[in-house]
Amino acid sequence: MPVADYKTYCKMIDRAKEKHFAYPAINVSSLTTANAVLKGLAESKSDGIIQVSTGGGAFASGSSVKDMALGAISIAEHVHRVAGRYPIFVALHTDHCQAKVLDNYVIPLIQETERRRTAGLPNLFNSHMFDGSDLPLKENLDIAVKLLERCHRSELILEIEAGVVGGEEDGIKAEASAKLYTTPEDTLEVARRLGSVKGARYFLAATFGNVHGVYKPGHVKLRPKVLKECQEAVEREYGKAARFDLVFHGGSGSSLEEIHEALDYGVVKMNLDTDTQYAFTRAIVDHMFKNYSGVLKVDGEVGNKKNYDPRSYLASAEAAMAERVKQAVRDLRAAGKTMFKG
Ligand SMILES: [Zn+2]
Repeated sequence: MPVADYKTYCKMIDRAKEKHFAYPAINVSSLTTANAVLKGLAESKSDGIIQVSTGGGAFASGSSVKDMALGAISIAEHVHRVAGRYPIFVALHTDHCQAKVLDNYVIPLIQETERRRTAGLPNLFNSHMFDGSDLPLKENLDIAVKLLERCHRSELILEIEAGVVGGEEDGIKAEASAKLYTTPEDTLEVARRLGSVKGARYFLAATFGNVHGVYKPGHVKLRPKVLKECQEAVEREYGKAARFDLVFHGGSGSSLEEIHEALDYGVVKMNLDTDTQYAFTRAIVDHMFKNYSGVLKVDGEVGNKKNYDPRSYLASAEAAMAERVKQAVRDLRAAGKTMFKG
């Protein structure tokens, strides 16, 4: 199917919320990783989300260009072109964008969608994340409200973050003193401020001890109950319809119990990067070890072109990453739930 339109994306989210499952949102930074996600989703008969971070966009644009927005546009255009060959819906999203890079990333991407809509073309992305979690909540929400108004005019969903996801992603490291658990008071303020943009839709990344990256057991103390408390607070104040569409960041390495508990509290999107990165690289390592004398020209030999052609190990990496995507789909109870009726 083509990339989901706004109506389809909203329906996807509503269904997930109602049926207590979530979509994997997988970071990609190349055609091969984007294809891996599409393959994994299609083989699981699940809809899902492909997302590009600022670093992923810069990488995709090429090491001499390093233009994060341009690289994200390239990947999105590729996905728009090939998505029609897969019997599922996919949505395109951009990951963490801090206030200081908005003008280099999310704003040009919104402009690109605005330009396309004026020309009668479909949106390029479906949603964008603004990550103002390093700012005081008021400043975070001042920027978020303005962005949400603009996104809403072009049928884009905005993701925001309250509280801080620990660890490191894309070279952005959370402070040791960071607020790793969102409070109901903070999320009520989010609902009040963003709820003032009538008809607009947003995701909330509320943090409950989540950390980017993967750590040994015991290092991370997840408290999914925080999400429950936030949902109950917002429901008391603004009614059932105000319950948040929650996003689970730093999902790599979480236990199935923790994931399922979070789904029961209204998580509809779970981000995955570290685990799929590992799956991709693991397959390449395997290839290199098994074909050592083929990928290298050892002792005056000529190696084996079949082994060092990048397509050979990248195809294995694509397949391995797709398998990890399939596991994420199962963990998130999304298998077989595609809305696409072929
Ligand atoms: Zn994140």
